[in-house]
Amino acid sequence: MADDGSRPFTPAELSTHTGFALNGLDRLSNQRDDQAHIEGLMADPASRFVVVGRDRPVLKRLDEGYDPLFTRAEAEAIGKHRECALLGVRDGVAYFGLLLDDSVIVIEDVADEGGMVDIRHFVIPGRDDLFVHDLRPLAIEGAFAPAIYGLLGEAKSLLYWHARHRFCSACGEPSDFAGAGWRRQCPSCRALHFPRTDPVVIMLAVHNGDCLLGRQPRFNKGMYSALAGFLEPGETIEDAVRREILEESGIRIGRVAYMASQPWPFPSSLMIGCIGEALNRDIVVDKTELEDCRWFSHGDIVKMFERNHPQGFMAPHHLAIAHHILRAWRDGEAPGFG
Ligand SMILES: [Zn+2]
Repeated sequence: MADDGSRPFTPAELSTHTGFALNGLDRLSNQRDDQAHIEGLMADPASRFVVVGRDRPVLKRLDEGYDPLFTRAEAEAIGKHRECALLGVRDGVAYFGLLLDDSVIVIEDVADEGGMVDIRHFVIPGRDDLFVHDLRPLAIEGAFAPAIYGLLGEAKSLLYWHARHRFCSACGEPSDFAGAGWRRQCPSCRALHFPRTDPVVIMLAVHNGDCLLGRQPRFNKGMYSALAGFLEPGETIEDAVRREILEESGIRIGRVAYMASQPWPFPSSLMIGCIGEALNRDIVVDKTELEDCRWFSHGDIVKMFERNHPQGFMAPHHLAIAHHILRAWRDGEAPGFG
């Protein structure tokens, strides 16, 4: 079977086209407390480990490109390490995520030619054969199979949680790693803690054949994307969609339909992609959130995907769920509203 994480029973799901959505793993959720079994998988020479340090994946440098998969011995030899979580099994191979201690990775400020501090390099001293890099540009580069990004995303989100939840939030005592990495428990007050996922709604408002997109100042020049915001406690997905669009653009939304979802490991979000029926057209841009927000015609969107829009406007990158929601709408595959 091709190592692309494909799931033959869900070929039409829009979610499967989004970045980080596929890893094809059997997460063995009913075997996580079988310590002997987990240790057996860890000891299996066929098992592979992805390594994360300071919230970034560690990769082996190859003559051409990089390899994110290590043997256990290779992974543990990198340096002092903390939690090691079971990610799952695929095609008979178990995959684990290993978290390095922060002390292993040194952050160097690198100056550009003009002498200005340009970018931070994450370095493991004495290991020029390893490369530590932010996952987002690695994913945009698209050097690995989709299943590898799914694996790295799962590891990054889960290990980020461990790195920041070492103490019981109920009583403050250090908590213990448990359930092969899918739980922490407090030896003092017995509280159980589970890895968090933060839901974010991201949505396309549509009205009379047009759709609403906005841009944040940090976006690449000319790029417009779907509006988005965190879902709050006590809120339905539909209400979060209506509230966020109204807050950011002044547009009131009636009906809302779900389209797709995407795990987004920066650090632990789940993007919930929706489409909503706009009830008015007068935009009032929330300038604290957005630089601009406007209606786009279907013809605009076609040109934005073709990168020949006369005003230089562009659709979001295909790594992002917004790209796929917008593409589905362009192609007439989004839920309609009468
Ligand atoms: Zn406690």
